[in-house]
Order: sequence, then structure tokens, then C-alpha cells
Amino acid sequence: MSSQKPAKDVYDLVILGNGAAAFAAAIKADELEKKTAMIQGGMVGGTCINVGCVPSKRLLVAGEIIENNAEHDLGKGTIKPHLENFNFKNLIKSKNQMVSVLRREKYEAVLNGLSKNVQVFTGKAMFISKDQVRIATSGATITGRNFLIATGSSPRVPTIEGIEKVNYWTNVEALSPPFHPKSMIIIGGRALGLEFAQMYARLGTKVTLLQRSKTILPNEEPDLTKALSRYLTEDHVNILTNVEIKKVSQSHVTKSSRPIITVETLVHKKPFKFRADALLMATGRTPNSQEIGLEEIGVKLREGGSVIIDDEMRTNLSHIYAAGDVTGEPMLEALAAREGTKAAENALIGSRAKIDFNSVPRAIFTDPQFASVGLTEREALDAGYECNCRVLTFSEVSKARIIGNTRGVIKMVVDNKTLTVLGIHILCPYAGDLFTEAALMIKNKYTAADVVDTIHVFPTMSEAIKIVAQAFFRDVGATSCCI
Ligand SMILES: Cc1cc2nc3c(=O)[nH]c(=O)nc-3n(C[C@H](O)[C@H](O)[C@H](O)COP(=O)(O)OP(=O)(O)OC[C@H]3O[C@@H](n4cnc5c(N)ncnc54)[C@H](O)[C@@H]3O)c2cc1C
Repeated sequence: MSSQKPAKDVYDLVILGNGAAAFAAAIKADELEKKTAMIQGGMVGGTCINVGCVPSKRLLVAGEIIENNAEHDLGKGTIKPHLENFNFKNLIKSKNQMVSVLRREKYEAVLNGLSKNVQVFTGKAMFISKDQVRIATSGATITGRNFLIATGSSPRVPTIEGIEKVNYWTNVEALSPPFHPKSMIIIGGRALGLEFAQMYARLGTKVTLLQRSKTILPNEEPDLTKALSRYLTEDHVNILTNVEIKKVSQSHVTKSSRPIITVETLVHKKPFKFRADALLMATGRTPNSQEIGLEEIGVKLREGGSVIIDDEMRTNLSHIYAAGDVTGEPMLEALAAREGTKAAENALIGSRAKIDFNSVPRAIFTDPQFASVGLTEREALDAGYECNCRVLTFSEVSKARIIGNTRGVIKMVVDNKTLTVLGIHILCPYAGDLFTEAALMIKNKYTAADVVDTIHVFPTMSEAIKIVAQAFFRDVGATSCCI
């Protein structure tokens, strides 16, 4: 990798961005020995390492440790966490240290290890023509044969009366908070909102989560979302659904005290006010596609701003590709990286590589975790399948009984004609860790019989996948765990 003044010559690939998608593309371009420019408009590594996956998982684990060390009175069903031994500031400090070490090892060192093929430039890039970008800080222009838009996404904050006068948080502030909030209102009941809700609740904050739809995670399997909602409520997250946000405001009790934030709502059409000392907006992410000259050069965007690409990651302009969050949902780190690799290959050597979006697994890192791949029952029906499903609770799974944690549900959706697995949805401890098997089943079009025929280690949580497949053939409640 070299960082220097732009060369006069033309780059084979110009990458806008420096997150997962951009890094994967730069590594592939370097392997292919193609002259590449990578333009970093933000912190090295982008969202995931700095203000996304990595720091959020660290704080979630801290909450889990507190929870596991709490006094559980199983008789009364109460939990007394030992929050007195825990220092919030030190926790954030240790998270920051971990992030900077990982950023150095996994991004800065990787970039330094790239050969002379990849030149890195700093500043925001903007298209000034179909084959040139300008870097804002230096004013330098870079010419390319191919381009990759990998500019990621930013928090989306909807228009709400009073929002501009309130010191609300997004994921950025919630992961490096200026104080330890005693109470927090979270607007949004999807992945980010739920992870932050449980994280803060376990770190001793009184959390109220306000969700617009009838349920949390409205696009996921209702059998599982209902169970997750119950578990989070047991973890002292106050979840309200059918909430319409009307107005937010902020007041200071005294000059030196923290502001109190008030959220005025209609819950099931009845007026309610909520107050807390922090407000977290977990209301989705907006693709970073504005102010980079895309519309001016004719790159087509969807209504919400995501860049439209075909299954080879190419935009409507044949030499301009896009990868990662800027292309819209699903916004996932591993998917962004894979798209970056394939886009670079397609642009540089015409591989015509595609991604099987149907087998992309996704996970929400609550406890228990929620992992999903393929179609839900609703989606299978909408797609015209005559589908069949089995749902199982983890009290049917020996490992869950052995470790004394049966909080979990699994659902398998199959094509009723062939028993081909169309979707798997799991809510259980560490579901994300056992889920690659599920993605392989969908990718390779396994049938429920193939799954049953695959020997699973006993006793493990992954046996749940085998048992739910068995449920298409027999009553698993009456089956020995050796079957
Ligand atoms: C709180 C949180 C938790 C998450 N947890 C998970 C998780 O557990 N698992 C998971 O798979 N995903 C998770 N995600 C999503 C994941 O972080 C993203 O999908 C992934 O980081 C997207 O990578 P990207 O390369 O598309 O964009 P980014 O990582 O956002 O990188 C884009 C980079 O481009 C820069 N840029 C923007 N404009 C320009 C410009 N004009 N010129 C040059 N550079 C520019 C940006 O500053 C940024 O540095 C989480 C996200 C958040 C917010």
C-alpha cells in the first residue's frame, strides 16, 4: 500500500470508501495486481469496527457477564445483578482499547501489507464525471476505468416535532456515551434497538423501547419474535408496540443537572408521555449516496437512496459498481465484504460472479440470539410455495436442558412437495455461532431428510436443527434423544 499524490495515469479500479466492502475489494484488486485507488472518507475500517458490530458486541458481552454473575433466585424467578462492582467508564475505556487494537491489526496492518498496486487517499470523494472523482480535502482528481461505490450508511433519524432541539443518541453516542444513563428511551424495535435495549438494561439502565409496528422485528417469524419479546421483558426491558411518536422535547432540571428528555406518544391511539435521561434513535440506516455526484452522472438510486445494482453488483453504468450498505438492505458486514470482493473481480477480470442472497444468514446478538436464513412462512406462501413448517421449543433439546437454559424456539420452513428446506429461524443462546450449518442447507438445497441424515454432535444446541427436521417425520416429543 502506498499513500501519495495521485498519479497522472488511469486507475483500473477506484474505490470510494474504507469499510468492509472497500477493504475486501482492495484486497482482491491487489491479489489481481491491478492499479487501484482507495479513497478513505472516514475512520479506517468504517462502521463495523468503529461504531458497529465490534464495539456493540463487546458491550453486549459485558451485560451478559453481569447477568450471569447475578444472584438468580430460581424459586422466586428474580435476578439481582451485582452492578455495584462494575464501573461504566472503565467498561467503555476497555471497549475503546479493544477496538483500537483490532482496528490496528485487522485494518491498518492489512492496508499497510498491500503492495504498491493499491494507493490510499484521504478525504471524501465525489464524482465530477463518469470517469473521474474529486477528493474534497485536497481537490485532487482521480481517473478510473472502473469504480466501486462502497460509502456505507449512516443513522436515519425521522422527522419528529422537536427532534432538532434534543441531544438524542444514535449508535455512535450509545457506544461511546458521555454518561451512564439511569434511564433510556429507545425508538425502534429492530436489530439495533433490541441489542442496545438489552445491553443497557443489563448495564443497569431503565430501558423503555417504543416500536411503531404491532411487534418487534415485524418481518421475522412471529413464533420467535413473541418469545424474544417475552425474554427481553423478563430482562427488564419495557417494550411498547403500536406506538406513534408525536413530539420530543428536552428540559434542564437545574443548570448542572442532565437534561430530561420527554417523548410524547400515542400508544394504541391513547396519549402517553415517557421521560428519560437518554434518547436513542434506532430508526434505521440511510445509504451514504447523497452529495457524491451519483445522480449528476446518472447512477440510478431507489427512493430511499440505495444504489440500484444487478446481481453482479453493477449499477446502471457498466463501469460503476456498488457494494455494502450503500446498496440497501440487508446491511451486514460479511455480506458487504463478499459484495466488495465479487464487485472487484467482476470489474477487473470480468468474472461475472454473483451472490446467492437467499442463503445470506443474519443474526441479532441479543441473549438469546436471533438468527435467520431463507424464507419465513409468510414469504414462502407469498412466493407461491405450498409450504409446511415445524416449530420447536428448546425444552426438546437435550443440551438446553443440560445447561439449564431452555430459552429458545426454532422454526423450519420446507416446500411441502419436496421437503426442501426454504428457511430456518432460530432463537437460542449463541444461535449465530451454530448458524452457518443452516446457511449451507439453504445454499445447497437440502431436504429435511438430508438434515436428519446428517449426524449432529450430541449434546449440542445445533441438534435443534436436526430435531426440528425430524419433526416432519415423527412426534419428536416422544422420541429418545438417541434417535
Ligand atoms: C450498531 C451496529 C451494529 C452492527 N452489528 C452488526 C453485526 O453484528 N453483524 C453484521 O453483520 N453487521 C452489523 N452491523 C452492520 C455493519 O456494520 C455494516 O453492514 C457494514 O459495516 C457495512 O460496511 P460498508 O463497507 O458497506 O460500509 P462502512 O463500513 O460504513 O464503510 C463506508 C466508509 O466509507 C466512508 N465514506 C462515506 N462517504 C464517502 C465518500 N464520499 N468518499 C470516501 N469515503 C466515504 C465512510 O466514512 C465509511 O468509513 C452493525 C451496524 C451498526 C450500526
